[in-house]
Amino acid sequence: MTLHVVQFSGGIGSFCAALRVHKAHGPENMVLLIADTGIEDPDLWRFAEDTSRYLDVPLSIVRDGRTPWELFRDKRFLGNDRITPCTKYLKQIPCRKWMKENADPADTVGYIGIENTKKDKARIPAIEHNWAPWRIEFPLCAKGEPWRTKDELLDEARAAGIEPPRMYAEGFAHNNCGGTCVRAGMKQWRHTLEVLPERFAYAEAQEAELRAMLGDVSILRQRRKGVAYNLPLSELRRQHELTKTA
Ligand code: SF4
Repeated sequence: MTLHVVQFSGGIGSFCAALRVHKAHGPENMVLLIADTGIEDPDLWRFAEDTSRYLDVPLSIVRDGRTPWELFRDKRFLGNDRITPCTKYLKQIPCRKWMKENADPADTVGYIGIENTKKDKARIPAIEHNWAPWRIEFPLCAKGEPWRTKDELLDEARAAGIEPPRMYAEGFAHNNCGGTCVRAGMKQWRHTLEVLPERFAYAEAQEAELRAMLGDVSILRQRRKGVAYNLPLSELRRQHELTKTA
């Protein structure tokens, strides 16, 4: 029997992908594979458990054991909006290890819930390449699937009686790494400062520690007169507070 492995991130896209896989194949040979980075929003795990119960498919949780911050210290490299070793070491490698041990490439299909937008669809060839030799499908981009707004995707969870992850209601576009994803841009970091100030402060302190270890590195960059400068989170906070008092 073919194994159907949904790469379940705890985001709404992968939830909707899981719904479609469940509808097409049932729960018996279905897997919800999720990587724990150690800094997810606690509500992500509530959502994951609700999804698991609803689909009657247990969660298969993999973890490296380090948080992104611990990984950056080990690798002596601060992840940023361009290069994210955390994705490779905390998500891709543990998931591939699980696949090697549990999923025969000749009889397995993997599923990824990237959304049906031009920007997301452009990622498909790289994802397929990275996941070889396993065959990967993209249920939300399948032929005949209409484009859906984020709200429509969130409504699919509500229709199943599952409250969507609270990070969306808090104004975040993604439910990953608790609103402190290093790949997120300045706009999201400002939002984190506004709505989750303790998490911003924690990330700021972690970045400061890495700067003390590695020198002038930063998660964000800022362009001034066409030149890109490192922008530590402490400086983003200072600029943000200035705009509020101006
Ligand atoms: S969500 Fe962001 S911070 Fe978390 S592992 Fe992925 S790239 Fe790194």
